[in-house]
Formats: sequence, C-alpha cells, structure tokens
Amino acid sequence: MTDQTLTTCTKCRLHRSRTNVVPGKGPHDARFMLVGEAPGADEDEAGEPFVGQSGILLSRLLKDAGIHRDGIFITNSVKCRPPGNRDPRDDEVLACKPYLKAQIWTMQPAVIVTVGKYAAWHVTMTTGPISNIMALTNLTCIYGTEPIPVIPCYHPAYLLRLLQSDKDRAKEVYRDYIWRLKQAKDMATGL
Ligand code: URA
Repeated sequence: MTDQTLTTCTKCRLHRSRTNVVPGKGPHDARFMLVGEAPGADEDEAGEPFVGQSGILLSRLLKDAGIHRDGIFITNSVKCRPPGNRDPRDDEVLACKPYLKAQIWTMQPAVIVTVGKYAAWHVTMTTGPISNIMALTNLTCIYGTEPIPVIPCYHPAYLLRLLQSDKDRAKEVYRDYIWRLKQAKDMATGL
C-alpha cells in the first residue's frame, strides 16, 4: 500500500471534504512511531500531521524528552480530516485502518506511542477511557511480525486545555508525558 493509493482513496465519506490526505511524516525506517487521532484544519491544509496548536505542543514535549521530531514517524488513525474536527466515526476508522496496519507492518517500529483514546483503541484494540488505558502496562500492537510495545499518552489537545484551566494538573500531566516519551525513546534505541 503506497502513499499514492492513499492520496486517491475514496473508501469513506471524508474524501469529499478533504483538501489533502495526511498519510504521515518521517523516515520510513523509523524505530519510533507516533499515532494520533485525525488531521485537523491545519493538517488538512498542509498535508502533514500535527502542524497546528497540538502539533506545536507535541514538538515541545518531544524536545523536552530528548527526541528529534524529524527522526520519528508521525501519523494518525484516520488520514483525512473529519469536518469541523468532529470525532472520526466507526465506519471511517474501519475504512482507514488497513492504511495504519500497512504502515506498521512495513515499518516494524520498535515502539508505538499513541496519543488520545482513538489512537490507543485502534492500535491496541483496547477500549475505554484514556486514563484507564494509560494505567495498563504491557500494551502491545499485533500488526507487526512480533508484538510491538505501545505507550499510550493523552492527546496534546487535552494538555492544551489543561494549561488554560488547571495549571497544577497540567504540570503533573506534562511530567508524566515526558516520562512516557522517554520510556518510548529508550525502547526505540534499545536501552
Ligand atoms: N490531532 C491529531 O490527532 N492529529 C493531527 O495530526 C493533528 C491534531
């Protein structure tokens, strides 16, 4: 499955309203893959994942964890923007899932970080609130040749909201985020 197949995809209704498909960005042999939810308006415009406000915060989190954004592969569960940034619907996620599975299969990353509940659901098939999923240890993804360890994190948009509403909690979540990203980094570098 190539980016060319993706850019002409019409498997779900999202193709009608998109400006660009957002397949993902980064080295195709990256050992560290990060999976988000779906492109927003900025990503739809640019054709690249995480370039809006959430992306700016994500870049800062990665930098603080000592991870070079350019060295990891960043993609989403759904490759086209749901109109008005609504949640992706089940049939849209199902239609798009083969692309994510193919990316994981081709890349065989050493670790996958998921951000937000949708990414955690689709990569690990574990449903429930994100805080419950984040309490689980030893989560794996079965779309590689071997089970791939998965580190679930909050979506950066949640942290952005917290930074406005509850600075103390935001600090805690920030620290935990860095801890999770560093764990993933160690797994990717084989430490
Ligand atoms: N939120 C996501 O989950 N993915 C993006 O690419 C941008 C915002």
